[in-house]
Amino acid sequence: MAAGKTIFKRIIDGEIPAQIVYETDRCLAFRDVNPQAPVHVLVIPKQEIASLAEAAEADESLLGHLLLSARTIASQLGLENGYRTVINCGPDGGQSVDHLHVHLLGGRPLGWPPG
Ligand code: 5GP
Repeated sequence: MAAGKTIFKRIIDGEIPAQIVYETDRCLAFRDVNPQAPVHVLVIPKQEIASLAEAAEADESLLGHLLLSARTIASQLGLENGYRTVINCGPDGGQSVDHLHVHLLGGRPLGWPPG
């Protein structure tokens, strides 16, 4: 394993398994290993971007692609009653993996505000 590779980069590279639910040329989506709802999927760019704060103007299309992919996955997984997308960013945002990811949560009513 290359030094400094994140766990998500290792999933992209096929070095560790994941329950992949969706894939395009630019993104990969798989089940969260510690689900917080009946459906908890992570949508990640194949391009390595550490966080939303690290995204560049040139990533505008990719960021839209991640959200539209989350919408497609929500539809494919039957979340007709609604769902939530979340991007945690940085220490205060609760980000624990330094590879940009969109959480897709659904399958139960979700409380607000978050913790
Ligand atoms: P964050 O806290 O950075 O917003 O979200 C990281 C998410 O990645 C967490 O919900 C955590 O459960 C998930 N996660 C961490 N390691 C793995 C892994 O090896 N496989 C999968 N599928 N999810 C992981």
